[in-house]
Amino acid sequence: MSEDKDLLEKEKQGRETSDENTKEDEYEKVCFMCRRPESKTGPMITLPQNIHICTECMQKSFDTMNNSNMNYGDLMSHMPNISMMDLSSIPNQVSEKQRVKKKKKKTEEKKQEFTMKDVPPPHKIKEKLDEYVIGQEHAKKVISVGVYNHYKRVLSAEQKNGEVEIAKSNMLMIGPTGSGKTYLVQTLAKLLDVPLAITDATSLTEAGYIGDDIESVVSKLLAAADNDVERAEHGIIFIDEIDKIAKKKNTNQRDVSGEAVQQGMLKLLEGSDVEVPVGANSKNAMVPLTTVNTSNILFICGGAFPDLEEIIKERLNKKAAIGFQADLKDKYDNDKNLLNKVTVEDLRMFGMVPEFLGRLPIIFTLQGLDEDMLVKILKEPRNAILKQYEKLLEMDEVKLEFEENALRAIAKKALEKDTGARALRAILEEYMLDIMYEIPKDDSIGEVIITKEYIEHTGGPKILLRGQEPLLLQ
Ligand code: ADP
Repeated sequence: MSEDKDLLEKEKQGRETSDENTKEDEYEKVCFMCRRPESKTGPMITLPQNIHICTECMQKSFDTMNNSNMNYGDLMSHMPNISMMDLSSIPNQVSEKQRVKKKKKKTEEKKQEFTMKDVPPPHKIKEKLDEYVIGQEHAKKVISVGVYNHYKRVLSAEQKNGEVEIAKSNMLMIGPTGSGKTYLVQTLAKLLDVPLAITDATSLTEAGYIGDDIESVVSKLLAAADNDVERAEHGIIFIDEIDKIAKKKNTNQRDVSGEAVQQGMLKLLEGSDVEVPVGANSKNAMVPLTTVNTSNILFICGGAFPDLEEIIKERLNKKAAIGFQADLKDKYDNDKNLLNKVTVEDLRMFGMVPEFLGRLPIIFTLQGLDEDMLVKILKEPRNAILKQYEKLLEMDEVKLEFEENALRAIAKKALEKDTGARALRAILEEYMLDIMYEIPKDDSIGEVIITKEYIEHTGGPKILLRGQEPLLLQ
């Protein structure tokens, strides 16, 4: 009986080590000395303690030894305080997150080949987006078609069919803060099951200055793809706050975080091979490097572009003031859809360089959210905030309800903060704190109804005891 147990135990251990081995096999070896991965150096020599050295570095070490006039004994007697380094005393050289996955073998690739079946048609993409993102109909339509075409282009480039080369469809998204720009891209990446990296343009500077190198965005994407280069090459990079890298006006200093960043990004947007550090944001001697090609990466830039409306208004007014169509000067003052009339020329006036705009052929806008949309955002999306609270209280077997005018009151408060839908969660959290604290105290409570009075601090929520009439808490 105990023999059986031993046997089982051994078998389990065997399985575990073989699992470890297959996991090891998925990653590239990295040279202990030059930090280059196996795909660049060729086969490596493995020393004890899992240390790998490429043949080139091994050769270089031998050459150094041979070229010195002294032999090893002489060398040591000249430098009595120095002993040869014991490699085994150094901890394993590359941490888990710095390892690159090996490129898949051809046979495996066949199985997982990226096909058009992986990308749903635009109307299906929009349908899915509708489940999560409220309003923004135009933006959802443009992004669905843009993404669909992008992946068609990727496929056509990979299969190298036809002479017609489809241009890259990078996008520029303009809309006030909290209108759902980031959320739209996040939802999109999730439903397409592609890796996504989100970066803030304000953190980027020209290489060599304090801040992140522009190429660090690719490094982030690689991390999001679990260091799998092929997966990263089909991913999406979202660069937020792109308006903050507009050309600075009236400055004589070198603009390292504005125009220079736009210039530096041109190559990436168009598609080029980028050497990126693995598992770190910056290149240094201790970090292995790998090459990622950005031609098939979809870049989406987003920004609020404050004052852009003024530029558009000025242009429209100028046009209207000439000739027979002369109009009233304040015609566009209250135009809510002014942003929709944006042109590349307006963005140039704002401070974006023409070459940069040229690489973002799809430009679209998102609307600022109004009260109705905010109420809908509270209750309608698949993972709406209200649904989340309802679920939490359901676990205490308590029903949670919001009166319609309570929702309106919350939306009004959010509008005052001017941060779009972002304010909703913070406001709700403030009111729900007391409820979530008090309710579990009393087993007899069966239902809580949030009223407008509770939100406006003029009354309390309605509490219903199990099988009883409403009770108003003061
Ligand atoms: P920004 O436009 O500044 O990038 P975000 O996308 O980060 O704004 O929005 C903040 C949060 O507000 C999101 O996480 C999401 O929950 C919510 N939100 C914003 N707009 C919408 C929308 N149109 N539909 C549903 N939720 C939204």
